[in-house]
Amino acid sequence: AVKNELAKVETLNTFEDFKNNLTQLVFHSQAPLPFSFSVEPDMKDAIHYSLGFSGPGLILPDTTYYNDEHPRKKELLDFWAKNTSEILKTFDVENAEEIAKSALKFDALLVPSANTSEEWAKYAELYHPISTDSFVSKVKNLDLKSLIKDLVKTEPDKVIVYEDRFYESFDLLINEENWSLIKAWMLTKIARGATSFFNEDLRILGGAYGRFLSNVQEARSQEKHQLDLTESYFSQVIGLFYGKKYFGEAAKADVKRMVTAMIKVYQARLSKNEWLSQETAEKAIEKLDAITPFIGFPDKLPEIYSRLKTTSGSLYEDALKFDEILTARTFEKFSEDVDKTSWHMPAHMVNAYYSPDSNTIVFPAAILQAPFYSLEQSSSQNYGGIGAVIAHEISHAFDNNGAQFDKEGNLNKWWLDKDYEAFEEKQKEMIALFDGVETEVGPANGKLIVSENIADQGGITAALTAAKDEKDVDLKAFF
Ligand SMILES: [Zn+2]
Repeated sequence: AVKNELAKVETLNTFEDFKNNLTQLVFHSQAPLPFSFSVEPDMKDAIHYSLGFSGPGLILPDTTYYNDEHPRKKELLDFWAKNTSEILKTFDVENAEEIAKSALKFDALLVPSANTSEEWAKYAELYHPISTDSFVSKVKNLDLKSLIKDLVKTEPDKVIVYEDRFYESFDLLINEENWSLIKAWMLTKIARGATSFFNEDLRILGGAYGRFLSNVQEARSQEKHQLDLTESYFSQVIGLFYGKKYFGEAAKADVKRMVTAMIKVYQARLSKNEWLSQETAEKAIEKLDAITPFIGFPDKLPEIYSRLKTTSGSLYEDALKFDEILTARTFEKFSEDVDKTSWHMPAHMVNAYYSPDSNTIVFPAAILQAPFYSLEQSSSQNYGGIGAVIAHEISHAFDNNGAQFDKEGNLNKWWLDKDYEAFEEKQKEMIALFDGVETEVGPANGKLIVSENIADQGGITAALTAAKDEKDVDLKAFF
């Protein structure tokens, strides 16, 4: 079956063949294209979807790894090349070493046009809409007009470009001259992606580069691997099972009460705020009041799960079919309204998030457990745990990115200019506070982590205020 997937690319002898098979590759193959279209809520009109465009991503974790001074650049690329050629050989691919090297050559060409991690971190600033007509006419080497129509079955008025430099360099990168490198790059991606589905030796080989990158000695156990794979297709299904089994109505009501208390703390802080004008503070309170909390687990599963059925008797074949169904679903969504009640995290994940496009805060059941939270713990323990998490997520609504979205979830400046300038000054202070701080993995990059630092700082101070409002406050337990 893997050979069949590889053959779908191997048989594309020329760039012309590639050009004529774009739609087929997207919907019916494991081959990634060397560019990417996505369907996401439109940042300026978050009830509708927009078609996004970006580059294909890099092999190393981000652009900084490609600097010649980066201490791990060479060893990581060498390891990847060796590991990838071994994987290709297990699928009887000829010229495996050559293919791995060519893939790295294409990857190297992509580096200057890829967004840096700092650019990705300021995601509200990556929204660059271009009319579909001018978007497609700038690209001469491929017929993106037809491809877009095949993908979303309609002609959208605009495309949102998230990686400007990649778009600007499109024809310089994706062309006949580079076709053999692109082809090699696609083959390596198919082969590496298939290693999870067969025997134990291949699985261990497929994970070797990832372990080398993150300095992990041992491979995941077979049992955890099985959970990972199942989760990669059925995360919400597992989450709903977990939520119903381990999270009850009493805890839900209690957490809801804590969310309300935390929102009250923010309301009080905003009404006493001294550096914002009253006008901006009132708008902030409106946004705060409009935040919708989701607690525990969702009411229902997305319909897509009923379409995923294991029928072939082969894990890989089933995965291929699931991927086809999921890709079709991604583009099918384009013409629907955004379902703002859907969850982007399963209930069994120990994590939480704020979604700027729906102005929601989401707390999966698994983080609503000790030590973060328990009905058996004191109020101070709970405020120091889940209270700080709740307030952290609320703060994201007002961090350097979240602050640019209004209460409906649209990118829309609701601040007075002078207030936003004052906020930018405060961001600079937060960046400076953390920039260069030594950590066990090297000095911190203040710009990269500023949104999390804002959320942590806001979160812990608001949770502390709420804890102090309770009669049984115990600061030792809080911290
Ligand atoms: Zn966060």
